[in-house]
Amino acid sequence: MFAKILIANRGEIACRVIRTARKMGVRTIAVYSDADARSLHVEMADEAVHIGLSPVGESYLRGDKIIAAALATGAQAIHPGYGFLSENPDFVDQVVAAGLIFIGPSAASIRAMGLKDAAKRLMEKAGVPVVPGYHGEAQEIVLLASKAREIGYPVLIKARAGGGGKGMRRVEHPDEFSEALSSARREAKAAFGDDRVLVEKYVDKPRHIEVQVFGDNFGNAVHLYERDCSAQRRHQKVIEESPAPGMTEALRKAMTDAAVKAAKAIHYSGAGTIEFLYENGEFYFIEMNTRLQVEHPVTEAITGIDLVHEQIRVASGGGLSVKQEDIKFNGHAIECRINAEDPRTFTPSPGTITHFHTPGGLGIRVDSGVYSGYKIPPYYDSLIGKLIVHGRNRVECMMRLRRALDEFVVDGIKTTLPLFRDLVGNADIANGDYDIHWLEKYLAKED
Ligand code: ADP
Repeated sequence: MFAKILIANRGEIACRVIRTARKMGVRTIAVYSDADARSLHVEMADEAVHIGLSPVGESYLRGDKIIAAALATGAQAIHPGYGFLSENPDFVDQVVAAGLIFIGPSAASIRAMGLKDAAKRLMEKAGVPVVPGYHGEAQEIVLLASKAREIGYPVLIKARAGGGGKGMRRVEHPDEFSEALSSARREAKAAFGDDRVLVEKYVDKPRHIEVQVFGDNFGNAVHLYERDCSAQRRHQKVIEESPAPGMTEALRKAMTDAAVKAAKAIHYSGAGTIEFLYENGEFYFIEMNTRLQVEHPVTEAITGIDLVHEQIRVASGGGLSVKQEDIKFNGHAIECRINAEDPRTFTPSPGTITHFHTPGGLGIRVDSGVYSGYKIPPYYDSLIGKLIVHGRNRVECMMRLRRALDEFVVDGIKTTLPLFRDLVGNADIANGDYDIHWLEKYLAKED
């Protein structure tokens, strides 16, 4: 086991990783930018290294400074959290070249799944169902337009390097194709430095259902059930739950089998997520996230397995601590992402938190990176915390969620808490009756 690890991240996820490392007796090194000198992750870690100015390009994306900090402090491994450098295979190569261990998959696995077009080709070969569409190399506009016609409108143009819903355009009609393509390409170029796209069938009313997978370096790969992340706005998740409402045993078996097949196809090691769209009895692979996800605690709640513990264990050369047949799930869990944002317009609301009180009691977990008096810097993601609620069944979970939301106090800034208080009383949410468009429609009606 490692004696010391460095956490190349900030906010709630850095704090969350530190907690597990401490439980395992592993010392932790935080890194921080100018704006984060008084951040919670810096307080919580055993040691902290300043790595640069506030903008991410000067700090949390500076792989060289992060590796130098690890070497200077005697850390043996680097946990990337999510976002920032977590899915950057070049960073993984640099970590390994420096004689350190990356707590995550190999650079080769990340490369195999990093581009949506290559990932889809790989999955097709492995016999995993993918969204029908064009995911080839050639990118001439005439070819893409004719592929779109073949697929049948509406189609979705997607940046192959995409993430966070960027570089994605729904196209209703052939006349709109060329303009949508240019704007998707522009956005993709600016965000990812890569303007290549794929064209997919636009799935009309799907649910987003993903499967948590885990592999080790001894050829084992398991799944830890599914999460439903259909409550989205602008293709970004807002609420996640597990198990998926209405999931049947037969569908679960088919989806989790496909997910494990996908993980095995790339000899996957560490925590990963296989994302699918599900509609009318059919499911289709959309992408794999080769990292720990924001919503991983709902899986931890229902399985009782600490995913970060498994990550550290596997990276340090151990096998998975559980076999598939030992992984059972218990009850129901829901996560709400609490962002420092206006709950209606979703514009960021940085500023000072004057009062921060988290709910407690049976089945409640709050993962956050803030405290009363903390000043939220404007430079980073607006996620300030997550409320994760577990109950013996979905009804109990919803009751507990309502109570926990009532108890949660964040003063001084705007947050998404009022939105969740609204949603928890909604009949469709209470019944688990929502697809990926439901939330946008609900918000449009409320305006
Ligand atoms: P990103 O990497 O940008 O998050 P994804 O491919 O994971 O992109 O898709 C994000 C979300 O966009 C999905 O959860 C789903 O809501 C929607 N989406 C993706 N592909 C399709 C599709 N073919 N049809 C309809 N909606 C889609």
